[in-house]
Amino acid sequence: MNIHENIIAPFVHFFYPHNCIGCGSDIIERENFLCLECINELPHTSFALHANNPLEKFFWGRIPVTAGMSEFYFSKTSIVQNCIHEFKYKGNTKLGLYLGRMIGKSILNSNRFAGIDFLIPLPLFTKKEFIRGFNQSAILCKGISEITNIPVMPNSVIRIKATETQTKKGRIERWENVEKSFSVTDAERLKNKHVLLVDDVITTGATIEACGAQILKVEGAKLSIASLAYATR
Ligand SMILES: [Zn+2]
Repeated sequence: MNIHENIIAPFVHFFYPHNCIGCGSDIIERENFLCLECINELPHTSFALHANNPLEKFFWGRIPVTAGMSEFYFSKTSIVQNCIHEFKYKGNTKLGLYLGRMIGKSILNSNRFAGIDFLIPLPLFTKKEFIRGFNQSAILCKGISEITNIPVMPNSVIRIKATETQTKKGRIERWENVEKSFSVTDAERLKNKHVLLVDDVITTGATIEACGAQILKVEGAKLSIASLAYATR
């Protein structure tokens, strides 16, 4: 920090006060969301670098995944959880872009993700997206794209049916219900393409599996998966 910044920063902070999303401590630099300590404590997985990593294993026997990664381990009451809350529920899309760029850097630094043609955000129900004002996965895709230059292809897959009220259904019925809730609208563009399907948090993997299954029905399509956080243990 130079003298100029030393003098100016406190004033900037006075007008734009903000706190670290991870621990709540004061941050002076306006462009940062996390303090240096929290940045250093972020639980990166390094999955992107390793074949047969836990995320890829998680989909074994479910759908064929060319490469899979999650940027962070997810746990409750953690920096990552605070970030996701701030991003998704408080609408901090700039933070979302920042997190997306972190995924982008990991993908760029791994040759396992070479040759991806498109990024596809996991679609939300239109109503949900309307209420939230954005699709969090689309924001992450934008951040990934800024770093990797891989284009985003939204709306090539859509979500067509609500799946919330299915708690009383059996396992198979439930799966059929979820699988049918995605539809590929532009199969021609996905033909023989390698797509990276992006989600925020992978917990059961059921939605991403269902969406991925539809993409894989397109002739010659290859599927890779990226998520901001990995919540399964
Ligand atoms: Zn902090």
